[in-house]
Amino acid sequence: MSPLQRIAAGADSQLFEILATLGNQLRFASQSWRIRQNTQTHDEESTTQRVLVVGRINESICFGREFSINQSIQLRAFFMSRKVYVAGKLVPAEQATVSVFDHGLLYGDGIFEGIRVYGGRVFRHREHIDRLYESALAIRLEIPITHPEMIKAVEDTVKANDIIDGYVRLVVTRGSGSLGLDIRRTSNPQVIIIADTISLYPAELYETGMRLVTAATIRNHPGALSPRVKSLNYLNNIMAKIEGTDAGTVEALMLNHNGEVAECTGDNIFIVKHGVLKTPQRDSGILEGITRNAVMKLAVDAGVIVQECVLTRHDIFTADECFLTGTAAEVIAVISLDGRMIGAGTPGPVTADLLKRFRKLTQT
Ligand code: PMP
Repeated sequence: MSPLQRIAAGADSQLFEILATLGNQLRFASQSWRIRQNTQTHDEESTTQRVLVVGRINESICFGREFSINQSIQLRAFFMSRKVYVAGKLVPAEQATVSVFDHGLLYGDGIFEGIRVYGGRVFRHREHIDRLYESALAIRLEIPITHPEMIKAVEDTVKANDIIDGYVRLVVTRGSGSLGLDIRRTSNPQVIIIADTISLYPAELYETGMRLVTAATIRNHPGALSPRVKSLNYLNNIMAKIEGTDAGTVEALMLNHNGEVAECTGDNIFIVKHGVLKTPQRDSGILEGITRNAVMKLAVDAGVIVQECVLTRHDIFTADECFLTGTAAEVIAVISLDGRMIGAGTPGPVTADLLKRFRKLTQT
């Protein structure tokens, strides 16, 4: 008997367990389960209000049966609430929990990805999953599911939450263990997938461009923790972000241990000088951004010369144009750094063109 048939047949005591095991099928169920009608059932002894629930998968009705009001309220809560993927299943957000002994919480021991969804499609899905598995390799974390399973889990979570344009946060923790750093004393790495909407920088910043300040906090030394690992420990970036916020900017520039430009707290940085697009090399203490790579390709396709090279603050001060790239930020112009106006102090033509091309890319 299939799980849905079991529910239809009245396996109420296990209702929610069964719903949870439905996992990937939930998206169909959640989209189409509707409380159809309220009926008053009169029998000899009592009057009980009951609710008819119809379950559908694709267009064929799988079952229809009555639930008590109480059950139907739970069912409605189940199907209306946001679903989070955790421990291999989609569960209502309120029930999505991990152990307080998880080293992801205790030590920031884990990795993550932030991924965009455009028009219901996961943007640069394979690249994000590849980067996740590379981060895992670098910190010797064994992800408990395969690449294809991960891709499917992300897609299922997006569908279960009816996300058309939104954002996915994919987290893999080390798992729970003893109160010590030893990874051998941990078990059950947790894969957590949250699909949500996204809040951008204020829309007017895309018109006007943003101001930047340089943070005193330098980017992690690659010999300590490579910024190419997208780890759960973002304190390095948060320290710099605090500096930006204190200075009244929404982003802050981070230099590397050599005093060269690395990246911003959550975005990669580009400049345009004499028509050439320049960005720090991936070994200069940066996260190799997926948006960065997409924009470099768009620029090459547009006939722009692209260079990955060492950049200093001086290069930014004296650039014709400057912009940032990131999954959340997309492409956004920078008009000043530390009070020095960049170029004309407005978003430049190359930036505007690349933003246009990027938006087109996300829509196709
Ligand atoms: N650098 C850092 C530190 C980031 O957190 C991000 C956001 N993930 C980026 C750069 C941009 O990378 P991506 O384009 O892959 O989002």
